[in-house]
Amino acid sequence: MRFADIKGNDDIKRALSGMADRGRVPHAMIFHENEGSGALALILAFMQYLNCKNRHDGDSCGECISCHQTSNLTYPDIHFTFPFTSGTKVAGEAKSLTCYDYAQLWRQLVLRNPYFGENELWEWLGIDKKQGIISVAEGDAILHELSLSSVSDGYRAVVVWLPEKMNQQTANMLLKAIEEPSDKTLFLMVTHSPEDVLQTIASRCLSIRVLPVPGLERAERPADMELRDRFGDLMDAVLRRDFLDALAVGEELAAMESREKQKAFCIFAGEAARKVFLIQQGAASVAGIRPEDSAFYENLAEKCSKAFPRKAASALSRAEMLLGGNVNQKILFTMLVSRIFASI
Ligand SMILES: [Zn+2]
Repeated sequence: MRFADIKGNDDIKRALSGMADRGRVPHAMIFHENEGSGALALILAFMQYLNCKNRHDGDSCGECISCHQTSNLTYPDIHFTFPFTSGTKVAGEAKSLTCYDYAQLWRQLVLRNPYFGENELWEWLGIDKKQGIISVAEGDAILHELSLSSVSDGYRAVVVWLPEKMNQQTANMLLKAIEEPSDKTLFLMVTHSPEDVLQTIASRCLSIRVLPVPGLERAERPADMELRDRFGDLMDAVLRRDFLDALAVGEELAAMESREKQKAFCIFAGEAARKVFLIQQGAASVAGIRPEDSAFYENLAEKCSKAFPRKAASALSRAEMLLGGNVNQKILFTMLVSRIFASI
């Protein structure tokens, strides 16, 4: 992920790239955000910038091996820590599990949407939301990893998502590493509740306030429902092979009150296409579908062709991108509906 891929918070992007350019990077930072404001995305873009082999114009190149690895979440020297416990997807004794046991699920979720919120994470990991913590076993895993030499010659980082879920014992274990990290080792944390982060940890971190970006706040459930309904209407017309009805939904979409809302629709529908794809591949359990939505997606997966998810997702992401520019919305949504109609 490049800084340019993230909307808003330009001051923070400039501050982060400036730190990297000057080679003066604080070894511990805590990014305070309202859920879904992009703190994790900023951290990923920052790590990508730090380790890019060909930075230019205040951003990473997006093309070198290190950029590729960072965007694929396969960069060997970034360790992700987040709250978890045993659950429906990873069984076993909770206190012996570490983030390695959840690494694959975490990676899928972040790649799908780095703006995910807490409930989305619990659902995705298959755990009860009140139970997730950053455990002593995980603290051990972090210290062990830091005791090994870096794989690359760049910066390495421990990214902690929700340090407020770290218990006292784990925090104590990590204090020394946070206070006196080895060279080019960073602790980068995302908190939603800074007052709940243990003071011993918070006081050792530079605090950065990530501002909510208008139009980017996580859609509340009612807004989500509205998008779902519109998408449902569209797919209903498409599956009935009623082109005029489908075009009528396209007109409603073109008449939505803001471009942000239209983009939100494209993102929502793109996610829906991915869910359909996963069900068609027999991987419904990792699709992150709420029980109440499951019949809706199962029906689509059954009735749509195997080519549908890919074609629809590509049309939707193109539409989302075009909405960022000066495009005629009516034409755009007519084209979009036609492409979805043809992709079935
Ligand atoms: Zn690069």
